[in-house]
Amino acid sequence: MAYEELKQEIIEYSKKIGIDKIGFAAANEFSEMKSRLKLQQEAGYQSGFEKGTIEERTEPELLLSDAQSIIAIAVAYPSRMKSRPKNKKGERRGNFCRASWGMDYHHVLNEKLDKLSAFIATKISGFHYRSMVDTGELSDRAVAERAGIGFSGKNCAIITPEFGSYVYLGEMITNIPFPPDTPVDDSCGDCTICIDSCPTGALVAPGRLNAQNCIAFVTQTKGFVPDEYREVMGNQLYGFDTCQLVCPRNKQVDTHLHPELEPDPELVKPKLLPLLSITNREFKEQFGTMAGSWRGKKPIQRNAIIALAHYKEESAVDELIRLMKTDPRPVIRGTAAWAIGKIGTDDGFPAIVRAKEKESDPEVINEMNKGLAFQNK
Ligand code: SF4
Repeated sequence: MAYEELKQEIIEYSKKIGIDKIGFAAANEFSEMKSRLKLQQEAGYQSGFEKGTIEERTEPELLLSDAQSIIAIAVAYPSRMKSRPKNKKGERRGNFCRASWGMDYHHVLNEKLDKLSAFIATKISGFHYRSMVDTGELSDRAVAERAGIGFSGKNCAIITPEFGSYVYLGEMITNIPFPPDTPVDDSCGDCTICIDSCPTGALVAPGRLNAQNCIAFVTQTKGFVPDEYREVMGNQLYGFDTCQLVCPRNKQVDTHLHPELEPDPELVKPKLLPLLSITNREFKEQFGTMAGSWRGKKPIQRNAIIALAHYKEESAVDELIRLMKTDPRPVIRGTAAWAIGKIGTDDGFPAIVRAKEKESDPEVINEMNKGLAFQNK
């Protein structure tokens, strides 16, 4: 079979299974990216969530020995929700980023890639492939750029002409030499809005991110949040959308093509206070299908405490005192103590003093001291 003909059949089939964009690229080494990744590693700018060695991340042949091409797919997600719940005093809410709306996109895209590979296997014998979505070794963005899905923005996102950067990306390395597509001939031009708007300066240069300073990354860590990021986080429970929201290429872009990616407002903007006492089981039942739950409930609870402090939500103080005194996790006890001090109610400070007498963890005591220091501000 002519590979171009098969390619057209795959493109037709991809539309039927809800793939919004598909592109084909050669499986050559990503040599330019290799040097960039080395620089990132040397500078300490990586998140630590990356999979594989730099070689595995840039040489498709190391992942599929007879790799010839890579099929890139994109699925568009919404940027606006229909009914936003009110975020009001006494009932403050947190926020999950848009990439965590609806069902976990890893699941959604992997399912589509499975269907695609099954389809291709019926068309050609000896078909080998390897699929990945976000957590694989390959850079979804580098593949998407080479396959003509979109161009690489200064905010490190792939920007498509149709859906802006609100797309999930995945890919399949194959042993079929599909004719490649051409990259999108577009760029950010002189625009630097995302770089100028990043509150932590995490976009250190066009297309270069220091993940350690990126709030999206910080919300996913499990330890204490460094002081300088706490106020910037605001009510963010997971991820951070600023560099996408400010992008002129995303203005008016709001795509609703997949019911399973529609947000449940109560889940993506949940009330903060109930999160503090949620059990593991309840967390899994309520949030388990969302991409934003992948690190478990601790980071979400820690971020909820920081959000309550951001709002100076006095109705949360009793619950925060309970956590400070009884929670077995130092990060939660310490962050609660800091938050109690930041909220600054009359009964909060003596509660910190009393809890500090019984506390033995030095990091928690440090947070208690920070909480008490708000008394003099
Ligand atoms: Fe590019 Fe401007 Fe969008 Fe940043 S905000 S990604 S510089 S177009």
